[in-house]
Amino acid sequence: MIYTKYGKTDMTLSAIGFGGMRFLEPYDSDQCHEMVQYAYSQGINYFDTAPGYCGDQSEIIFGRAFKEMLKIRDEKPFYVATKSGADNPSDLRRNLENSLERMGLDYIDVYQEWCITSMPQYEQRKANGILKELTKFKEEGLIKHVCISSHLPGDGIREVLNDYPFEGVLLGYCAMNFQYRDAGIDAAAKNQQGVVCMNPLAGGLIPEHPELFEFLKKPTDKSVVESALHFLIDDPRINVALLGFSKNKHVDQAIAAMDSYKPLPSGYKDSLRSNLKENFNSICTGCAYCKDCPQDIPIPALMGAYNQFHITKDPMNMLNTLRYHYGISKEKAIEFVDSCIACKKCEKECTQILPIVNRLQEIKKEISKLD
Ligand code: SF4
Ligand code: SF4
Repeated sequence: MIYTKYGKTDMTLSAIGFGGMRFLEPYDSDQCHEMVQYAYSQGINYFDTAPGYCGDQSEIIFGRAFKEMLKIRDEKPFYVATKSGADNPSDLRRNLENSLERMGLDYIDVYQEWCITSMPQYEQRKANGILKELTKFKEEGLIKHVCISSHLPGDGIREVLNDYPFEGVLLGYCAMNFQYRDAGIDAAAKNQQGVVCMNPLAGGLIPEHPELFEFLKKPTDKSVVESALHFLIDDPRINVALLGFSKNKHVDQAIAAMDSYKPLPSGYKDSLRSNLKENFNSICTGCAYCKDCPQDIPIPALMGAYNQFHITKDPMNMLNTLRYHYGISKEKAIEFVDSCIACKKCEKECTQILPIVNRLQEIKKEISKLD
């Protein structure tokens, strides 16, 4: 396992983190908490959850595992991240108290201001006193580090990270869409803020369609999953790739991918860029050249979600990507589509020459049918 120091903090985190969003059978608590303990025994020391993941089961599962893990925490440290999207101090405090109780902890290591989806929303939370309350939590010893979790594009994340001395950021980032959020990771590195990446396997697209991602592989790689993880480990700006596990053998596979890591050949990232451009003709590569829409429609996010539909033909994958990767609800996505004035500025700027206006309409049509 590889470990790196998280920003300016004294935490040294494992390159693979345990993401608590994807327990397959969260009500089979025995199997789940034993898997958390297994990951810990294998060297994973970063555990990320949230109230509302798997109902409230995720924090409860981690709580059961932590009960055992706390007995040896002094010799074998581990770190816990959870979140709150409350927009006022009293809800924020209630959320924190509930998380502490569910997990049986005295404090949270990384407390994330959750799901920042726009600057006005961030400014509003700030005006409501959220950041002051988070500082108070720190003074009271209830949390150790104030961080953010965001689905904003890279330049939006940069703006938030430059606005306040957050100690780290959780963001979606992988070998397929890295261009979309690179500016955010650059800002974090410049400010010495820690970086944890969620969705390192493009929401399952990479393992489910290895033929499409063959170009990620280096001659010695056994699988595209290994290659996608190496891509993140190799980046000195990134501390942790968060993975959800459903079986102990998935933990073993992730750790094996760590163990096989060797520095990437020079020019690898450039070759990814050109492969994404050349081999993914009908796929949005997240380059964000189209981002300045006169109607403020987040086109790279909508086209990124459309990729899921394009590849899997399942509109639910597209809706889930909108919701969980980009923080855009079904209603908000439809509102965006309806606000398009078909000026086609985006299509003229698109490096992939995608039919963006038609795809927006398809998004609306497909997700309108879903709950
Ligand atoms: S066509 Fe629609 S999405 Fe594209 S730039 Fe114009 S308003 Fe924005
Ligand atoms: S310019 Fe085209 S490929 Fe690039 S993010 Fe926009 S839609 Fe995607």
